[in-house]
Amino acid sequence: MKDIAELHRKMVLFFIGFLLLTISGIPLIMYFSSPYLELKGSNEITININESYDEPGVIATYYGNDVSPEVIVTGNVDTTKPNTYKIKYSLKKGLFKKEKERTVIVIKPSNKVAPVITLKGSSSVNVCPNKSYEEEGYTATDDLDGDITSNVSVTTKDNKIIYSVKDSSGNTSTIERIVAYQDVTKPTITLKGNSSVTISLNSKYTDPGYTVTDNCDSTIVNKVKVTNNVNPKELGTYEVIYEVTDSAGNKTSVKRTVKVVKPVQGGVIYLTFDDGPKNGTTNVILDILKEEGVKATFFVTNSGPDSLIKREYEEGHTIALHTATHNYSKVYASVDAYFNDLQIVHDRVKRLTGVDSKIIRFPGGSSNTVSRSYSKGIMTTLTKEVTSRGYRYFDWNVSCEDAGGAKTKTQVYNNVIKNLSNKRVNMVLMHDIKPQTRDALRDIIEYAKANNFTFATIDENTPDVHHRVSN
Ligand SMILES: [Zn+2]
Repeated sequence: MKDIAELHRKMVLFFIGFLLLTISGIPLIMYFSSPYLELKGSNEITININESYDEPGVIATYYGNDVSPEVIVTGNVDTTKPNTYKIKYSLKKGLFKKEKERTVIVIKPSNKVAPVITLKGSSSVNVCPNKSYEEEGYTATDDLDGDITSNVSVTTKDNKIIYSVKDSSGNTSTIERIVAYQDVTKPTITLKGNSSVTISLNSKYTDPGYTVTDNCDSTIVNKVKVTNNVNPKELGTYEVIYEVTDSAGNKTSVKRTVKVVKPVQGGVIYLTFDDGPKNGTTNVILDILKEEGVKATFFVTNSGPDSLIKREYEEGHTIALHTATHNYSKVYASVDAYFNDLQIVHDRVKRLTGVDSKIIRFPGGSSNTVSRSYSKGIMTTLTKEVTSRGYRYFDWNVSCEDAGGAKTKTQVYNNVIKNLSNKRVNMVLMHDIKPQTRDALRDIIEYAKANNFTFATIDENTPDVHHRVSN
C-alpha cells in the first residue's frame, strides 16, 4: 500500500511538473531564442551622385512571424554629396539583439565630357567704329553640373572676346566671338510719296522729300545729295536721284521717276465703271458708249461673262483692274492677299485681251477706312507697294453715288453734272452693274457734250487722281 501511495504522489508531482513546463516552458524557451535578421539586396551599394537611393529593406522573422516593422533603421544617405554612408539595422527580441549594417557609397563618376558654351547672337559681329560691343549673352551647360553659365569667364584679346568655362571634373571649354569695328551697312533712304509721279507739262514739280537713316552715322541726314533734272517745260520721263555715302564709305542711291505729260485740258471727263462686267447693264452701257462715240475705262473684277470684257476691249475702252473678288475681308487681309487677288483678275484680262494691265483701282478707293478693320495701315503700304510693282492706281473726284444714296437715274445724273468742272480733270466714279447708272448714262453724255466737255480713257498720260490715305 505504501508503494502505491508513493507512486501516486510521484505521478501527481510529475503531472504538476509537466503542467508547469507546458504553461511556462515555451515562453521561456522563446525568451532564450534569437530572432532572424538578414539584409535584402547587397550589403554594399554604390550609386552615382544625384541618383536616388532606394532602400532594399530587410527580412526579419521571429518564430516564423514577420517582424520587419520592428527593425530600427538608422543612418542617412545624402545623394548630393559623394561619401561613404553606413545604414544600421537593429532588431531586439527577448534577450537577444540582432544588428546588420549596409554600406552605401555615393560617387562622382569620372566625366570626360566638356561643358558647352553657346553664344547668343552671332560669333562674328560688326560694330560701328564709334561704338562699343554690347555683350549679347551666352550660356554654359555641362552634362553633370547642369547650368554653369555663372562660372564662365569672359576676356578680350585684340578683336576677340574669349569665353571660357571649367566643369567640376576639370574639363574646360573655350569659344570666341570675333568683333570687327567696321561699318559695312549701307544707309537707308526712304522716299516720301510715290516712287513714280506724273505731272502735267508746265506745272510745278515739288519733290515730296525723303528720310534717311544709318546704323552708325548720326550726321547722315546732312549728307544726302539730290539730283533733280526734272524739266516741267518739256515732255519726258525724268529721274530724281537721291544719293548718300556714310562715314565708312557705304553708298546708297534711290530714284524717283517723274513723268511730264501733256497738259490735260480743262473739262476732260474720264468715265470709269467699276465692279463689272454684268449682263443686262454692261452690255447696254457699251451700246450707249458706241452710239455716242465715247470711250471709257472699266475697272473689272472676276465676275460677269468673258465676252463683255472682250467687247469692252475691242470697242476701244481701257480695261483696268479692280481685284478679282472685291471682298474687303479677303483683299485687305494682308499685302500678299491683295496682290494674289489682283493677280487673278490681271490674268483674266491678259487672257481675254492680251493686255498686261497696270492700271488699278482699290476697292473702296485708296481712302477707304474699311480695310483698317482687316489690316490696320494696309493702304499706306499698298499705295506705295503697287507703285513699286509698276502699277498706277486711280481714285476719283466725282462720284455718282450709285453705290450709296443714288437709287434713281435722276439722282445719278445730278450727282455727276453738279460736280463736273471744266477747270480740271473729272474722274467720274460709276458702277456698270447698277441699272440707275445705265439709265442715266445717255443724259450725262448729252449734258457733257452740250457743255464742251471732252472724254478720255485712262492711259499713261493721265495725271494721278489720288485720295488722301486714311487708315
Ligand atoms: Zn468697287
